[in-house]
Amino acid sequence: MADLEELYREIILDHYRSPRNRGELTDEAALRAEGFNPLCGDEILITLHVDHGVLSDIKISGQGCSISQSSASLMSAAVKGKSLDEVRQIIATFKTLMTVHEAQLEDGDAEPEAVDLRKLGELAALQGVVKFPMRIKCATLGWNTLTQCLDDASL
Ligand code: ZN
Repeated sequence: MADLEELYREIILDHYRSPRNRGELTDEAALRAEGFNPLCGDEILITLHVDHGVLSDIKISGQGCSISQSSASLMSAAVKGKSLDEVRQIIATFKTLMTVHEAQLEDGDAEPEAVDLRKLGELAALQGVVKFPMRIKCATLGWNTLTQCLDDASL
C-alpha cells in the first residue's frame, strides 16, 4: 500500500508542478466559469469549447493549494476530447469516489466499493484526499466549476 500511496503522491505533485491544459481560451465562443473555495482560498477559472457534443478544448487557470490545482489539471486531462455524456460520467464517478469514501470513513466500513479505480486512471490518485475532509472541497473545486460551466450553458 505504501508504494501505491507514493505513486499517488507523485502523480499529484507532477500535476501541480506541470499543470496540464494551463491557460485561458479568450475567444467569444469559449464557455467560462469561475470557482472559489473560501475554506482554503483556492480559485479556478475554466474556459472550454464544446464542438458537436464533444468537449474539444479546455483550459484551466487560477491559484491555490496543490490539491485544488492538481485535481483541476487531472480533470482537464481526463475530460478533454470526450463527449459530453462521457464528461458527465467521469464527473459522476469522481464525485462518487469522494463521497463514498467519506461515508465509509464515517461508519468505519471498509467494504470495497463500486467505484472502479482502473477506470479512473490517474484520477485514482486523488482518493487519498478523502482521509482529509478539509481537503475534499479543494479536490472537488475544479469539478464543481466544470459542472457549473456545463449547466450554465444548458449542456
Ligand atoms: Zn485548497
